[in-house]
Amino acid sequence: MSEVRVRFAPSPTGFLHIGGARTALFNWVYARHANGKFILRIEDTDERRSEKRYVDEILDSMKWLGMDWDEGPFYQSQRKDIYLEFANKLLEEGRAYRAAERRNKGISISVGTDSETESDKGEAIIFSVPEEDVVFNDLIRGEIRINSRQFGDIVLIKSDGMPAYNFACVVDDALMGITHILRGDDHISNTPKQVLLYRALGFDVPEFAHFPLILGKDGGRLSKRTGATAVSEYRRMGYLADAIVNYLMLLGWSPGQNREIFSIEEAIDLFDIKDVNKTAAVFDMDKLNWVNSEYIKSKSDRELLDLILPFLKERGLDVDEAYAIKVISLFKSRATTLVDFVDWADYFWSDDFSFDREAVDMHLSVDKSELFVRLIGVFERVHPWDTPIIEKEFRALVDEMGIKARELIHPVRVAVSGKRIGPGLFDLLCVLGRDRVIDRLKKQVSRWKEMSDG
Ligand code: GLU
Repeated sequence: MSEVRVRFAPSPTGFLHIGGARTALFNWVYARHANGKFILRIEDTDERRSEKRYVDEILDSMKWLGMDWDEGPFYQSQRKDIYLEFANKLLEEGRAYRAAERRNKGISISVGTDSETESDKGEAIIFSVPEEDVVFNDLIRGEIRINSRQFGDIVLIKSDGMPAYNFACVVDDALMGITHILRGDDHISNTPKQVLLYRALGFDVPEFAHFPLILGKDGGRLSKRTGATAVSEYRRMGYLADAIVNYLMLLGWSPGQNREIFSIEEAIDLFDIKDVNKTAAVFDMDKLNWVNSEYIKSKSDRELLDLILPFLKERGLDVDEAYAIKVISLFKSRATTLVDFVDWADYFWSDDFSFDREAVDMHLSVDKSELFVRLIGVFERVHPWDTPIIEKEFRALVDEMGIKARELIHPVRVAVSGKRIGPGLFDLLCVLGRDRVIDRLKKQVSRWKEMSDG
């Protein structure tokens, strides 16, 4: 069998979204599985809607996800002459005509995408579609048959000189030697048109596979509300690249045996187009969160530190690495995203942390200055400052005062962290360090004083 060559061909009219990323990933994984080539082509023929910043963002997101390409990126906007040459060939052969020459033949013209509206004007070159049943095989769905009456003649070159999507796509896929076209099933209606163009141009027709849609949890099309956010947005929200890749793979494929967490190497090893589900995948944020938390747990504290540092830096937080690693180990088992390490642990990163209103109302409304002052005295003497010793001394004080441990545990937690929940209190105190702990307890004593002084 000849070398497998697949491609990802985004239009840079928006950011790389979850659906596009899955298409790219399935192509990339298939290329790696088959020891083939993965080609990147930027379909930027819609000059009004294509933007450089989208190209940059798409390439950036692909690199972040680890999808390297073997050839490209090729830009269709730089290949206009090539498309024109093939369109002229079809004109000469009498298989295409200029829009202006179109006599009242009652021909409907298939434009391709919504934005390709320039096609009806004089200079456009249009392909005459013979009436026939176009049949092609889909590697996921099997045989698909569509009568050409359903779409009519096909625009090749628009009046502005730019190729229409279907034409540029076929010329490029053929010239780039693409053997398998793997894309979303929103393109199924384009495939019969493309098959006709391959044949007219004398090219071999490649294999096709159309992936089922990704739906939102509400059963509708994926939207911003249901999770169609750009890949770069997930990155900013603190998702890990390998977790996103794992989750994207699950949107239509799985390695079997109900396994949901797997490495990309395993996916490459096991992936086959025919195993992609025929039914739509549902984008489930809870599931993604679970996958992300599993990846967080599987990282070493050191690896997590490298991933979290940019988030801390972004907020202007400069931290000691040894200290940060201890904080990370406290939150690792409960964090869903990297941002959780920053937000939930804000009191570790800065003295200027947020106090949760409810926590304050519940646990700091009663003045416990006397207890706090005694505790400060105990903490000043604890040696060494270590979790079991802190706990032992803390409990000794509680016994001595004849109170229940929770009467002191909760107020102390809120006073030093601003929150009701978090890691075990004694671990928290240990990592936070004696000075910070005592300082915060003292601050709370002053606040109570201010309150009673009115
Ligand atoms: N530029 C098209 C898109 O982004 C490519 C479709 C295809 O893969 O043929 O939808």
